[in-house]
Parts: sequence; structure tokens; C-alpha cells
Amino acid sequence: MKKTPMEEWIIKRTGITPANQNKLVTYQLKKIVETLSYAKKNSAFYQRQLEGIDPEQIKSWDDFNHLPFTTADDIKNQPFAFLCVPQSRIDRIVTLNTSGTSGNKKRIFFTDTDLQKTVDFFDYGMRSLIDCSDRVLVLLPGNTFGTIGNLLKKALDRTKTTCVVYGLLTDLDAVEKIIVENEINCIVGIPIQVLYLSRMKQDGFKSIEKVLLSTDYVPQSLAFELNQKFGCQVFNHYGMTEMGYGGGVECQALNGYHLREGDLYFEIIDPVYGEPVADGVYGEIVFTSFDREAMPLIRYRTGDIGAFSQATCQCGTFLRTMKKVEGRLKNRIHLEDGIYVDLKALEEILLAFEDLVDYQLTVKDKHLFRINVAFYNEEQSSEKENHVKMLVQEYFDKNGDFSIQVEVARSQLQNPDQLVNSMVKRKIVDLRREKRDV
Ligand SMILES: [Zn+2]
Repeated sequence: MKKTPMEEWIIKRTGITPANQNKLVTYQLKKIVETLSYAKKNSAFYQRQLEGIDPEQIKSWDDFNHLPFTTADDIKNQPFAFLCVPQSRIDRIVTLNTSGTSGNKKRIFFTDTDLQKTVDFFDYGMRSLIDCSDRVLVLLPGNTFGTIGNLLKKALDRTKTTCVVYGLLTDLDAVEKIIVENEINCIVGIPIQVLYLSRMKQDGFKSIEKVLLSTDYVPQSLAFELNQKFGCQVFNHYGMTEMGYGGGVECQALNGYHLREGDLYFEIIDPVYGEPVADGVYGEIVFTSFDREAMPLIRYRTGDIGAFSQATCQCGTFLRTMKKVEGRLKNRIHLEDGIYVDLKALEEILLAFEDLVDYQLTVKDKHLFRINVAFYNEEQSSEKENHVKMLVQEYFDKNGDFSIQVEVARSQLQNPDQLVNSMVKRKIVDLRREKRDV
């Protein structure tokens, strides 16, 4: 099995010798101290946040573990206070739409140097699955400078790999035509969109050998279907805009990500108490960036659920492995003491229905859960709806005495050849919470 190409890149980037985990961790602590000094000196937010803390006195991981966390709300409340360079040096601002009624938006800033580091990561990360003989279609935004698709194209241009950037999937016919005309054999995209494409355009999809799924967690049933139906190797990428898009990518072992450890330090913490958890235990993923010019982030709480693997990877790298992300903390909705509804568990049920092309999940109150489903093939719809209802009711009935009623209703597909968007923004709508927010 090929060793992850991330290892070679990280050794080159950090200059550590001998190349091992201990040396890497020592390098990371040194870089974190530099980042703390830089951020405290240049950003108004960290000047306040790190008041009374002397970065030079951070000498151990125990010292580091006492530093305060940065949250998404901190960025939402005062994005410009994070800036460490004059606005004239910013080459890209990403504005993230966030839920809530406050009206504040999360803004993430990058200089050109920051963006080049992401291109480096994409270059080596993509070598985990392709070489220059492959032909790649990117179903991620890519029209403007510094978008994820644009940076991925720059990375693949370095190795002269064929790469077509389409953008988010909107027109199935157009995308199928691109696949055929360019003899595409690898797709990079959002899990649910790639699944939708494979279900709606089975002929076009036949040539796809490898898929890299990004920007979201990947339901097991989805990866299983792509593998069983088309023989695709399904690789996962983990990243978010705050990380500079890229965070980690799977090697050929397909058993968790190797991380961008030359640019980012990752921790897993207990989401309630904030303490680090042991390898193998799930918690909230937290990261600290190094060498980011525009907007360094220190102990940033991602809201994603993950765990480090205890075992070393089969590919033989000394790098750590993070298990596949399990979704977001906020997608686990609390109904009553100790009783939750979890998007991931529901999706494993719903996505197993092969002609399901849209769904919406709503907690109407703590005893009533509504599912709207749309099937591509409307034949036997009521049987399928009953089947969905039965499986989801079984999921809730595991909670013993707690009773919840499941309603299933059919939605009409307006235009089956256009991608339905509610399935892209996968979430559970909690009507109780929305009432409180207003
Ligand atoms: Zn590996």
C-alpha cells in the first residue's frame, strides 16, 4: 500500500530530522508559541484574549491546554478584530452564512501566502488518490479567485493533471456531458451531490473510479452504495473554511484522515468540560493554525465530532490518523433528559432508499417528528413512505418509555433534473428552537 504523500510533504515543510511524531510535536509547539506572539501583537481580539499570558512562557502541552478557546461566535461578533494585517493585504474574504437571528456573519480572511499554503496541501493531498494520468471533475465552487475549486485547480495544474471545475451541481445533463467529453474518472464534491448525480445519471457515472468527498461528513451507506454500484474508491477529505479549506485527507487505507500537521495542530476535547480526551474517544475537534498571516486561530472549536485513532495506519506513516468525522454537535438535538435525535443516525436510514432525492426533518415538538420525503420514482411511494416511517419509529422506540410520533409526508419534486437544495443543507429543523430565536 502506498504511504500517504502527506508525510513527504510535512517532512519537507517542517524540516524535521529524524522524521518522527516526537520531532513533529516539538516543531508544532515551537510554531504555536510563534503564533501566540504574532496574534497577540497584531490582532485586537487576541490582545484581549491573551491578556496576562506571556507566549514565551508556554513551554509544554500542559501550559498550552490552559489557553482559552476561540469560538465561532467570537468570529461572528467581531471578525475584523481577528485581522493581523492591513485590509489592503487581504486577497480573499469568505463570508459564511450562519444560522441565528443576530445578523452577524462569520468572515474569514486570507492573504495570498495563506492561499498558497492551501494550494500546497491540495497538491499533496490529491496525490493520495490520483496521479497525473487521472482526469478530475470538481463539483465545488470555483469561479472566482481563492475559492476552493479555484485553489484545487491551481494545485492540479502543478502536476499537469486534467481538471475541470464545474461548481456546485445544478444541471445534471451538463455535468454528465462534461464527464463523457473529458473522460473524467475522478470526482471531487459534496457527498450528497455526488450521490444524487450517481443515482440520476448512472450511465455517465460508470467511468468514475475514484471519488473524493469533501466539506461534510459522509454517511456510511452513501460510500457503500458508490462502492457497490460503481466500484468507486471513496476517499474522504475533512476541512472547513476556517482551516484554510483543507484539514486532512484519507490515504489508500481509507480508514481516517492524515492531517495537515505542518500548518495545523489538532486536539480532541470533551465538549462540556474542555479537557483533552484520550485517543480513541470521541469529542469536539479543535485546531490551532501556524504561519497564517491574515487570521491565525488559536484553539478554535470546530463544532465537529471526531476522535484520534489509537492504531497506526496500515500505510506505514508516522503521522497521526483521525477517524472519520461523525457530524456536528448541533445536529444532535436534545428532546428530553438523555434523549436525542441524531441527524447521522437518521441519514443512515434515509439514504439507503435509493430513489430518495430530497428530505426534510423537523422536530415539531418533543413528541412529534415530521419527515418530508421526495422520491424520484413515484411508483409505490406510499409503500416507501410507510417503510421510512417504520424504520424511523424503530429508531425512536429504542428510547423505552419515551414516546415520539413519526409523521411522513411526500413532497413533490418540482424539477428532477435540477438538484434539490434542501438536501444539501442537511440539518434537523427544530421548531421549538426557532420559536425561541424569534
Ligand atoms: Zn495512512
